[in-house]
Amino acid sequence: MALNLVLLGPPGAGKGTQAVRLARTWGIPHISTGTMLREAVKSGSGLGRQVQTIIESGGLIDDAMITEVVRQRLQAADVQSGFLLDGFPRTVPQAEALDAFDILKGPLVIVEIVLSEEEVLRRLAARMICSECGTNAQDDAEFATCHDCGGRLVPRADDREQVVKNRLEVYHRQTMPLVEYYGSRPTFCRVDGAQLVDHVTTEIVDAVEATRRQK
Ligand code: AMP
Repeated sequence: MALNLVLLGPPGAGKGTQAVRLARTWGIPHISTGTMLREAVKSGSGLGRQVQTIIESGGLIDDAMITEVVRQRLQAADVQSGFLLDGFPRTVPQAEALDAFDILKGPLVIVEIVLSEEEVLRRLAARMICSECGTNAQDDAEFATCHDCGGRLVPRADDREQVVKNRLEVYHRQTMPLVEYYGSRPTFCRVDGAQLVDHVTTEIVDAVEATRRQK
């Protein structure tokens, strides 16, 4: 059965890092709305010009606009055996829209990666991404270049202290209600994101496989 995975968690919880590993484990595409939007900004497309200021201030872009971006992406041929959504949904209206998509094959499996605010702030202050391909630098990166493409590592524009505060506030107000929205589903799982990266991956894989065995 197709695996429709949604990763929830605050900025810095490790969604992007885990998503790359999990997508490889199950051979499903990693769909990161943040990456798609940053690429749109970089390319100077119409969408990019509309969303640039919002992204840089740490706010959320319009529900209808991002929902349409995701709806179109989920129509691509590579989502036959499922997908992993990273960064979507981020509001209850987005979650309702996703539930109503008629292209979904099988139920959503939702994984919340939990991390304390103190740890989030510590991680975001240290986070670097590649200026060329947008990949997150590995946690133990000792080099100033990307391990994937050799591009220069830079801080993310929206990881500046004031913007981070805004993103966390937005997360609590608009995204946390999703935990309640999804929390009672048998396909909802929660893992502790403060563990070593490998442990987090193992826990997610085990939890997701357990939900897939449920009837
Ligand atoms: P991320 O890389 O997931 O932290 O996303 C970076 C930024 O892109 C967010 O702070 C928002 O401005 C925007 N963004 C990404 N996904 C969404 C979404 N589902 N809804 C609204 N805005 C989004």
